[in-house]
Amino acid sequence: MGGTFDPIHLGHLVTAEQALFDLRLDEVVFLPAGAPWQKSRAVTSPGHRYLMTALATAGNPSFTVSRLEVETPGPTYTVDTLRRVRAALPDDELFFITGADAILNILTWKDAEECLALASFIAASRPGHDVGDLAAAGLMDRVTVLDVPALAISSSDVRQRFAAGRPVRYLIPREVEEYARKHGLYNAAHHGLVAGSLP
Ligand code: ATP
Ligand code: MG
Repeated sequence: MGGTFDPIHLGHLVTAEQALFDLRLDEVVFLPAGAPWQKSRAVTSPGHRYLMTALATAGNPSFTVSRLEVETPGPTYTVDTLRRVRAALPDDELFFITGADAILNILTWKDAEECLALASFIAASRPGHDVGDLAAAGLMDRVTVLDVPALAISSSDVRQRFAAGRPVRYLIPREVEEYARKHGLYNAAHHGLVAGSLP
């Protein structure tokens, strides 16, 4: 499961658990992105995002976190990651888990066709994003739709909540909240946000 995980939240974890069960996977590997080339905003350092993802998944024996992308200097592309995973695990069946919003962009990814050939793509339902749009994008028969209990949680909203001093409890794991506070990751100053005047 790829993502920026800035920070990881319950929407990510519920999606991963549902994929594990529905698709009878052996494990879900979380792949925090290094420097995502399609994200324009400043992203929290890969080391922090990796550690928060490790903290959030530590208690689940079927969840692991890969350092593959965070240790790759420069922009990371899913196709490069999938090539490396495929080379390392030639006999395994690979799935790439994304949310409905991310999958709709896939055709803009580097070497999209090769991505789709290297792994079976899973599109998790996500509030505010219509899985039905997959048909319009010509993806309906090329990806598997996964029904996930609707959680209207996003990392963007969690960051804004931190910056504004609004609650994040029950949206992200407790350990992640404590880690982010300890390192002041989402303070208003870091994101140029002012408490009380947020979008
Ligand atoms: P941001 O708001 O910074 O974009 P995000 O919440 O979208 O953060 P990402 O790290 O961008 O989180 O997402 C990683 C993957 O998880 C993406 O494929 C995304 O579609 C999926 N995802 C994120 N939140 C949810 C959710 N609440 N339900 C289902 N899928 C989700
Ligand atoms: Mg996102």
